[in-house]
Amino acid sequence: MKKKIFICGIHTECCSYSTLIQNKKDFEVLSSKKLLKYINFPYSKHENITFIPNKFYRSLPGGPVDKKFFIKTINNITKGLTKSKPIDGILLIMHGAMYVKGISDPEGFFIKKIRSKVSKDCKISLSYDLHGQMTDTIIKNIDYFAAYKTAPHIDVKQTYYRAMKMLINGILKNKKNHIIWEKIPVLVSGEMSSTIVEPCKKIYENLNIFNKIKGVNDCNLLIGYVWADTKRATASAIVNCADINIGKRICKKIALSYWNNRFKLVYDMQSYKLNRIFHVINKKRFTILADSGDNPTAGGVGSRIDVLEHVFKNKIQNTLFAGIFNEEIYRELKNKKNRIVIKDTFSKKKISISIDKFYLKNDNAIVTSNYNTIIFTKYRKPFHYLSDFKELNINLKKYKILIVKSGYLSPELKKLKADNFMILTDGFVTQDFKRIKNFYREKPIYPFQKKFRYNIAI
Ligand SMILES: [Zn+2]
Repeated sequence: MKKKIFICGIHTECCSYSTLIQNKKDFEVLSSKKLLKYINFPYSKHENITFIPNKFYRSLPGGPVDKKFFIKTINNITKGLTKSKPIDGILLIMHGAMYVKGISDPEGFFIKKIRSKVSKDCKISLSYDLHGQMTDTIIKNIDYFAAYKTAPHIDVKQTYYRAMKMLINGILKNKKNHIIWEKIPVLVSGEMSSTIVEPCKKIYENLNIFNKIKGVNDCNLLIGYVWADTKRATASAIVNCADINIGKRICKKIALSYWNNRFKLVYDMQSYKLNRIFHVINKKRFTILADSGDNPTAGGVGSRIDVLEHVFKNKIQNTLFAGIFNEEIYRELKNKKNRIVIKDTFSKKKISISIDKFYLKNDNAIVTSNYNTIIFTKYRKPFHYLSDFKELNINLKKYKILIVKSGYLSPELKKLKADNFMILTDGFVTQDFKRIKNFYREKPIYPFQKKFRYNIAI
């Protein structure tokens, strides 16, 4: 008889400082065939396995997830699981940096619940973002673990596949696996730990080398998520292994390789404060600026107007803002106007601009004012792909400066080979860590505390 693997998950990253609460409307739900198609395994039809795609909830990173919605979502998934029993394996697709007020370890809470619904023989494999958080509760309730090894993330589907492959081997071949993990008291932003530059490039390449060692199944390093003030927020090394002693040795090596390089973790882009940046750029060359404090893909709101205000105040021209989330402006522009007042409830800033021309397309209002173009979006939205501009009939060549709400640039924007800088702006996901509140975070942790010893436990 074929073995059954149930597939489900909740995937989001939550900034605990944000006032935007995530709810049903923020999540997209993939289920049945759509979910299988999205995961895109090389074998969606397997001669010995029946896949049961249940529900996969995902959202753009944002603020805390509403507790009632979270509990309801878990109940929806567990109901599906109970109906599908008996189950031989579960693939969980999670991000790992969810924040729910009142629940200190939401992923652990969810996974423990899932585990309680199945038999002891049922194996659970967890796929994670490398900006996720690990806890003892999670480790205790899973059998296999795989996290992305690239940031920006270009190995998402490969990670699902790694998690699934271990699961299938465990179910069909009864392959042994232990998970060893170790906290690393380091917590930096994704921008300081990109895997396309050193030191993380080499550290992550080494994971693949360790994977070849006999007794080791799959090695991982989690950077963690810095914009959540929680006790569990930290980096961690996680090793799947058949041999516990070898696994411990490698886990320690990974943890120390990250710890020993902590002082080298710096932004992979030149970074300046807002009042400096426009003095630094070469005005003759096409330049991309990342408004990093309000990056929606890290949990920022995406509606702040600090940079916009600066540009208009200083009469800077030839810029394209992609984009600014402001549903109100989008609605106002539906009833043609020649002047708009843009209010930002977060920075409390307000500016009034005249409109030279504008058009609406795909839930966006594209406004030209004083030789600058601003894309106001109806929904929170990053502009990471060249097709995002094409779809709105925007030719990037017409501008000297592109301002995106982003941290490190997306691979497609990076390919443009433009001069690029990060602006150290205010916002819920500010890169200025001195401004981040720390009430619950474990101490000591680098870079919040600088001088301390790492007493590695394994
Ligand atoms: Zn991530």
